[in-house]
Amino acid sequence: MALGVTAGCNEERATPIAPTATAANRRVLVVTHTTGFRHSSISLAESVIEQLGRSSGAYSVVFCRTAADVARLLTPAGLGDIDAVVFANTTGNLGIPDLQGFLDWVAAGHGFAGMHSAADTYRDAPTYLALLGNELVTHGDQAEVNARVENATHPAVAHFGGGYRVLDEIYRFAQSNRASVNLLLSVDRAPLDGLPDAGQPGDLPLAWFKTHGAGRVFYTALGHREEVWQDTRFQQHVLGGIRWALER
Ligand SMILES: [Zn+2]
Repeated sequence: MALGVTAGCNEERATPIAPTATAANRRVLVVTHTTGFRHSSISLAESVIEQLGRSSGAYSVVFCRTAADVARLLTPAGLGDIDAVVFANTTGNLGIPDLQGFLDWVAAGHGFAGMHSAADTYRDAPTYLALLGNELVTHGDQAEVNARVENATHPAVAHFGGGYRVLDEIYRFAQSNRASVNLLLSVDRAPLDGLPDAGQPGDLPLAWFKTHGAGRVFYTALGHREEVWQDTRFQQHVLGGIRWALER
């Protein structure tokens, strides 16, 4: 029986306090283990993500940096009090004891945020690529692009206004995933980075969000260079994406 059904009482009731997790005790597991290329921006990425959580009050972080950390933390027990996992420039096969179990954990209603080479992670695992929403093919030299904002109201990109001009390593993906995800940033012309399509018109996805079962997935292909992680506009992009992934 519902509480609060009291005969003869017509007083306004105070809104009950929901017994759910508040922003202050949201916990984010930040994974930076690599088995392939290791970006020199990783330590900066760790400190930026931690500081963004602290200054916004949105979350606190737990770091997962080594193979031993992965074996201990990316497990049902390790994820027990975690609300979202961030892959911050991870690469290769991370050695998650049960990859499908981790993907199922996201699908059960948790958050996942991938930064840059999160797309250079588990490239041989179709189930992980399905979580991520696209497949990395290659990249050229670092180059400047004018990223288009595809969603004017999303907290990850609303602050960019008309666009985001950024110098970074620009990934090429297997496809324009415009039809299967919710694009946040894209480029309509390939950058001058030495690849065969350089300078040609195209539809290159750069950041998006999607669901995975009941889980929430955010991905940005930006974040190769230290200078990008130091850019407060990029930091706002990362914070907006992680906060969105943490929503219930
Ligand atoms: Zn890179």
